[in-house]
Amino acid sequence: MELTVLGKYGPYGKAGTGAASGYLVKNQDDYLVMDMGNGTLSRLMGVANIKKIKHIFISHLHFDHTSDLLPFRYLLEELDHTVNIYTHKEDTPWYKVLFEHPNFNVINIDENSEMKIGSMTLSFLKMHHTVTDYSVIIKGEKTLCYTGDTMYNGNIPKCFSLSDYVLADCSKPKGFNGPHMNVENAIELSKKYSAKIIATHLSADFDPTDILKPYKNITVAEELKTYIL
Ligand SMILES: [Zn+2]
Repeated sequence: MELTVLGKYGPYGKAGTGAASGYLVKNQDDYLVMDMGNGTLSRLMGVANIKKIKHIFISHLHFDHTSDLLPFRYLLEELDHTVNIYTHKEDTPWYKVLFEHPNFNVINIDENSEMKIGSMTLSFLKMHHTVTDYSVIIKGEKTLCYTGDTMYNGNIPKCFSLSDYVLADCSKPKGFNGPHMNVENAIELSKKYSAKIIATHLSADFDPTDILKPYKNITVAEELKTYIL
């Protein structure tokens, strides 16, 4: 199983480089894209044959996780290719703008959903952000959880205990108290659980690498790096 980081920043990339949230998972010959924030589409095109991309998970509807879905439609039209999008239902104008398109087949998920996509099985846990956010737990050759955007909440222990790897929104500075986890959450979780943490959703102006370096279960996501899980 492989995880490629297309973009690790939120809500926008570092000046001159960097993209917002987007990840590509490969298990056997099956692919799952997770979120498509600003700057991720060109990177996805650089690492994958788009015709092989059939499944996209969207954790929540903030712009930095969804905005490249819009230009992606032009490419899908050109290729005459349709993708399944797994996301929760929202009765908002933005939901309609984003997803109402003939090349998108939207499949609404909640905590009771279990989706089989080729060699992977997806299940979902509700997180806690400023808007509804779901984490996805992907069972393939290994088990990977992606938290989307979230502060610490009662479902985080489940994500960690069920998974070999957690791609986690836990890169904010010490003392940060808002809708994301911080480096202290990351350190605490790494001591409590055996799951390996890939810390992501970095602010453009704060790099947690030095603080997290002493903890062998934590690595800070690197863009365009492919992790062999
Ligand atoms: Zn975000």
